[in-house]
Amino acid sequence: MGALCLLPIRWTMPMSTNVLQKESIHMSELQANISGIIKSSVIDGPGNRMVIFFQACNLNCLYCHNSHTIGLCNLCGLCVQNCPTQSLKIDASNKQIIHNASTCTHCDNCLKNCPENSSPFYKKMTVEHLISEIEEVKDFISGITVSGGEVMLQSEFLKQLFISIKTHPELNHLSILVDSNGNIDENRWNQVLDWVDGFMLDIKAYSSDVHKKITGHTNEKILNSIRYLDSKNKLSELRLVLVPGYNNSKEEIETISGFMQSLSPEVRKVLIKLRKHGIREKYHYLSEPTQLDIAQAVEILESDKHKLLVI
Ligand code: SF4
Ligand code: SF4
Repeated sequence: MGALCLLPIRWTMPMSTNVLQKESIHMSELQANISGIIKSSVIDGPGNRMVIFFQACNLNCLYCHNSHTIGLCNLCGLCVQNCPTQSLKIDASNKQIIHNASTCTHCDNCLKNCPENSSPFYKKMTVEHLISEIEEVKDFISGITVSGGEVMLQSEFLKQLFISIKTHPELNHLSILVDSNGNIDENRWNQVLDWVDGFMLDIKAYSSDVHKKITGHTNEKILNSIRYLDSKNKLSELRLVLVPGYNNSKEEIETISGFMQSLSPEVRKVLIKLRKHGIREKYHYLSEPTQLDIAQAVEILESDKHKLLVI
């Protein structure tokens, strides 16, 4: 997920679980876990875009701004017991939590205390559900961005969704961008490559040790993904979130710079300042970069051929 984008944690559109269940009898069986939809965004790629957020991630970044999208709900019931307004209940037969939006006070207790870094709010949706959501705004947007969580974990679903968009007579003008952490095997990229206009990935560190400290995982697969997508001319953006004390040493930035310079100049390179707003309380010890931190990183990362956008 884009490091700046704070996902609205409750749905911006009304969606009745009962309606979805009835409709889905007639729809394809393929479903995805969707944590939210923003019908109009100007910060998730070029133009005005609809953004679809998928639940579940295979990294656990210290600075994650949407940590409730990392895990899947296991119906433990903790949020149901602790909701101060009794707005949640377990629907055991359908293996889901039902949320009463009319009594919810948006206190976020359920999200802050979920042991799985999950949420009672995400929904199972079919390709047909999403297509009908896109049809509602098709005349006002220039494209679709899918984000997460880690969206490519649901690549089979994405392939079907993208084919449905690109073969739809009224939607095929929409560009498709994929916002991914890159921790994905090559075969998953190949499933969707032909249907995607561009991928936006992060490089969180070059050193595998530093990467593990930031995300809990090593980065060999991510570096391979960046190289692979660039070789296919599908990498549209590469972002680095500057995390003081982790990835801002001179040595680390120099190796990241060398890696960036090896990529096509057409790939947009973005340096993102870590912002603490929205990250989990236990990681509030992280510090935001100073102007000097940013200036030192820019000096190393930027070159005549490789311009850097700082946000
Ligand atoms: S959202 Fe979290 S706390 Fe609530 S039932 Fe699911 S796993 Fe348990
Ligand atoms: S946000 Fe608060 S009131 Fe709403 S469902 Fe969660 S715990 Fe209950």
